Amino acid sequence: MHELSIVSSIVDTVTEKLEAYPGARVKEVRLRVGALAAVIEDSLQFCYGIATDDTPLQGSKLVVNIVPVLMHCDHCDEDVEIASLQSFRCPECDEPVSDLRQGRELEIESIEIDEVEEKV
Ligand SMILES: [Zn+2]
Repeated sequence: MHELSIVSSIVDTVTEKLEAYPGARVKEVRLRVGALAAVIEDSLQFCYGIATDDTPLQGSKLVVNIVPVLMHCDHCDEDVEIASLQSFRCPECDEPVSDLRQGRELEIESIEIDEVEEKV
């Protein structure tokens, strides 16, 4: 399952970062996921429950922030948000756009441990 391998690598990354904080427990992990990253949040949450079992992340909360798809429109010379993933056209001028600026992210935004929050 696609989501399980994603979650496993998140758990690895967080566990590695926790080595600097002996005994700390994770409260919350925030993810930034692009609308084009093709992950299903329900699957992520389900896999998170399994993958964090018996790790310092056990019982922590996974927060998924979906970020919209941004493309650069040469015609308007600005980044525009693509509402429909069916057709990549500028919502302003209707020209086709192909220069992806945002939307494939799959990264840890922040990790909250005990009372301390660490930005990554
Ligand atoms: Zn445009």
